[in-house]
Amino acid sequence: MMQWLFLLLPVAALSGWLLARRHYQRYPHKTSRAFNPEYFKGLNYLLNEQPDKAIDVFIGLLEVNSETVETHLALANLFRRRGETERAIRIHQNLIARPSLHGEQRLQAMVELGLDYMHAGVLDRAEHLFLELLQQPQPHPEAAKQLLRIYQQEKNWPRAIEMGKIIDASKTGQVKPLIAQFYCELAEQHIPHARRDAFSLLKHALLHDANCVRASLLEARLYLDTRQPRKALDALQKLEQQNPRFLSEALDYWFQAYQQLGDLPAFRVHLSRLLERQPNMTSARIMLTKIVKELESPQAAQLLLYEQLHQHPSVEGLHTLINLGENQQIALVPLIDKITKAMVEKGDRYTCKNCGFSGKSMHWLCPGCANWGTVHPTEIHLTALEKLLESTS
Ligand SMILES: [Zn+2]
Repeated sequence: MMQWLFLLLPVAALSGWLLARRHYQRYPHKTSRAFNPEYFKGLNYLLNEQPDKAIDVFIGLLEVNSETVETHLALANLFRRRGETERAIRIHQNLIARPSLHGEQRLQAMVELGLDYMHAGVLDRAEHLFLELLQQPQPHPEAAKQLLRIYQQEKNWPRAIEMGKIIDASKTGQVKPLIAQFYCELAEQHIPHARRDAFSLLKHALLHDANCVRASLLEARLYLDTRQPRKALDALQKLEQQNPRFLSEALDYWFQAYQQLGDLPAFRVHLSRLLERQPNMTSARIMLTKIVKELESPQAAQLLLYEQLHQHPSVEGLHTLINLGENQQIALVPLIDKITKAMVEKGDRYTCKNCGFSGKSMHWLCPGCANWGTVHPTEIHLTALEKLLESTS
């Protein structure tokens, strides 16, 4: 690849020089030059393995006009893709500095330079450049997109929301769910000291994405904090329609709401119905067991779970069942307890459907692939056991 580039550079420079010579031949009153000695200087640097100096010389030789701009852009892109952002930046800066560049080409070079800065991690320079591009009469669609990336990285949520709205208005991307996540980030910041603002931010989140699970969960949390359990239940009710994969995240909130209402029997009914609709929800099954234990007895809870585990076996269920039993069990029980405990603790509870990232805590922004809302709760099934066996063998 590198050899290719270095072959391309002198060729490009030479063709630029030939073009110029043809021009001078057509207009002989202008200076007719012999072969430019700079060209040999460049080749010399190249042969002496001083590629940076060679590139500078060739870039200087390559006349910037409408015919060679594409060559410049292609070369710089190649450098950027190879991770040699400094070289890409030099070429793009050189292009922008030429007064002969016409409007559209200039804007394109600016976008590319901005992308170089993004690549190099010089976010303030990239921001500056993309803001300038955004103020053009016809802003390049890349400007708002890259600014959104920058503000997201800087956790500047108000600005990220602003950029999201610009992109949304130009219909160049599916950004509504992202805007909702940004509102949720802001709401979380407001929860400790400004609940009213937090409520209003969550309303905005849901206006942008009616299926924003996170906003509904946060609403429920706010209502529970202010002891409004009925309203918390209303907020949580939307969850199953929004995305049933996140239902397990609501179990603790449901528990708190019914506790505040002083109506655990109603919670028991609620969980039984939920399990009829979502029979694989181990977390709901364990919660139901906990409630039955509280309302009736450990024996009743044990019996319920025992029966259900036959139909829906799970490591976590088994672990809960063992812990519900009295210590009158056979000698193997402590061992099974130890193993299931290790499996429950080692198992990853959250997985990203996009990149497969898995971990023990909830991330609304996936640390693996930087997508919003792709990490979801998973039940610890037998795959966890396989994983554990792999890691211990
Ligand atoms: Zn991911």
